[in-house]
Amino acid sequence: MSTEVVATSVVSDAQQQSPSAPTQQKSVEKVNLLGMSRPQMEKFFEDMGEKKFRAGQVMKWIHQFFVTDFAEMTNISGKLREKLEKICEIKAPEVVHKNYSKDGTRKWVFRVGDGEGSLVETVLIPAEHRSGLRRTLCISSQVGCALDCSFCSTGKQGFQRDLNQAEIIGQLWMANYSYMEDVPVLERERSVTNVVMMGMGEPLLNYDAVLNSMRTMLDDFAYGMSKRRVTLSTSGVVPKIDQMVKDIDVALAISLHAPNDELRNELVPINKKYPLEQLIAACQRYIAKDGNESSRKHVTIEYVMLDGVNDHPEHAQQMIKLLKNLPSKINLIPFNPFPHAPYGRSSRNRIISFQKTLSDAGFVCTIRQTRGDDIDAACGQLVGQVADRTRRAEQWKKKVAAKNEILRSQG
Ligand code: SAH
Ligand code: SF4
Repeated sequence: MSTEVVATSVVSDAQQQSPSAPTQQKSVEKVNLLGMSRPQMEKFFEDMGEKKFRAGQVMKWIHQFFVTDFAEMTNISGKLREKLEKICEIKAPEVVHKNYSKDGTRKWVFRVGDGEGSLVETVLIPAEHRSGLRRTLCISSQVGCALDCSFCSTGKQGFQRDLNQAEIIGQLWMANYSYMEDVPVLERERSVTNVVMMGMGEPLLNYDAVLNSMRTMLDDFAYGMSKRRVTLSTSGVVPKIDQMVKDIDVALAISLHAPNDELRNELVPINKKYPLEQLIAACQRYIAKDGNESSRKHVTIEYVMLDGVNDHPEHAQQMIKLLKNLPSKINLIPFNPFPHAPYGRSSRNRIISFQKTLSDAGFVCTIRQTRGDDIDAACGQLVGQVADRTRRAEQWKKKVAAKNEILRSQG
């Protein structure tokens, strides 16, 4: 059980022995049930002396009917409801900003702590698909990120902290709830069809909370999502990719961005620790050899198109070689600029010819549509402009300014 679900409702010894000091009592913190996975909630109920099937019932109320008040859980006895009300709560992170775009994109900014920069963002992008309307939610896993990829505004903020399970699942809960607020409880449905762990942060560096949250996404007592519709995106934390093979079956996306180690070391610094050969081998291990039902038939390769940096024809040729033994689908992402970014977006023609080279070599290669530009919800723009206050960001801005100065003086 993660630390977030440890019961803190017990009054301390000092408080019990000192009735004359009520003003010094700490407020009694309730246990937030929102983030608990089913095994965690079953244990919680058993520890309380209750039957463990209660966990499934409560989870359905929370994640399928979006109920936050125990009084509304009508198949649970009044006595248990009262008990739960005393020591538990169902609490999503605080929404400090929401914006619903004309194109259907929705964005929420959540406050997850006291500091000025303790904000994370969640974006929902709708799209028509053969199988009907898709609503894909892009979920954050950390406040900031330690990995400092050179084209990413989240990386420029530095790392602040991991999100806990309630804060991760809370993003999915809130997005679903936003469509159902005015619908009577028993008629409520789940609206989000797909999840991508592609918001702020490196999900594999917050492994346990992300794993438990993805289990809740797949759980029939909660969101019941198909494993092919939950995608984890990583910049390449190799040992954790291997750990995932043992722990969960979801779709995997790799932020590749460069087809050789020299360039990738520069763009995605974690490559120095886990170079391409190791990363590709881990992806091969992730691909399941058995069963058509698996979500592990291929990996998605993400490749941000940076003007003049990684978009040359020779880079496309290197990609073909690198990926020849890895079942993969390639997604080219037009770079989303942010203030002080040292890169520009590759031209449309450049992106299309890059795509053609890869398609001609037999790869499925798509170009990501940039959506939600009118509300700053595009990839890599998450909260960046709001919370860019760390020392690293300042140093980095100085570095870029100095580089620009040198270029200017060279004419
Ligand atoms: N840390 C994880 C997931 C979050 S980043 C990872 O790196 O995969 C989600 C995706 O957005 C990644 O593919 C990332 O490379 C991409 N991205 C980051 N900054 C971007 C930018 N400015 N423009 C376009 N894509 C960006
Ligand atoms: Fe972190 Fe992903 Fe951004 Fe790299 S691209 S800094 S891993 S969030």
